[in-house]
Amino acid sequence: MSLEKTDAIIIRLADFSESSRVVTMFTRDLGKVSALAKGAKRLKGPFDAAIDLLSTCRVVFLRKSSGALDILTEAQLIKRFKPEGKSLHAVYGGYYVAELLGGLTEDGDPHPRLFDEAVQTLDRLQSDAPPLLVVMRFELLILREIGQLPEFDACQVCGREAEAIRGIRFWVSQGGLVCSECGRPEYEHTEIAPGTIQLLRRLATADGSIASRLAPSPGQYKELRRVVTSAICHAMERRPKMLRYLK
Ligand SMILES: [Zn+2]
Repeated sequence: MSLEKTDAIIIRLADFSESSRVVTMFTRDLGKVSALAKGAKRLKGPFDAAIDLLSTCRVVFLRKSSGALDILTEAQLIKRFKPEGKSLHAVYGGYYVAELLGGLTEDGDPHPRLFDEAVQTLDRLQSDAPPLLVVMRFELLILREIGQLPEFDACQVCGREAEAIRGIRFWVSQGGLVCSECGRPEYEHTEIAPGTIQLLRRLATADGSIASRLAPSPGQYKELRRVVTSAICHAMERRPKMLRYLK
């Protein structure tokens, strides 16, 4: 057994007994961890209301050896996720961040940069930034962090640059672009305009304030959404539950 101390975002809560919960956290230094929080459901419990979905906390937990649940011993609130007065998209966007962290990262596999980006994404969802683009930027970041960000530069077959070809499509199973000459009817792909590819690249590489600076047209947004959704579903091997609330 060892005592671990790190920062964490609470991404799932499950009842364990009348007074205890199993808390799944995405931690900065140890990746995803599930731990038993004894007494967490008591109003005056040992965690002083720090344990809440999407709260960022400084936690201490006891690592158990093989198979047994870790035990959460301390949770000190850093900040809560309370997008009060914001749109439902901001609220659902937060839940979606939790779902993505839960579904696309492995237990005990740390991604400190992704942790920091997730904290900033939750902050932005509580600001005036457009929530749907804030969420989309996070989707692209998490795909990059797990090595599944699609290639938006060139046709995956002939290698010609996206700018140099007409009739470019997004090829879901290969996670990249394919030109009309290399495309085959049996490939699962979706047409994508050059302007949309540019927007995807900018969203995937610029700093977090980009979400407030981009203004895709409704048609472009639809196309962006289609490409990012197919990349996320492919990486997750299912459709995330929260996605339908983010239209
Ligand atoms: Zn090609």
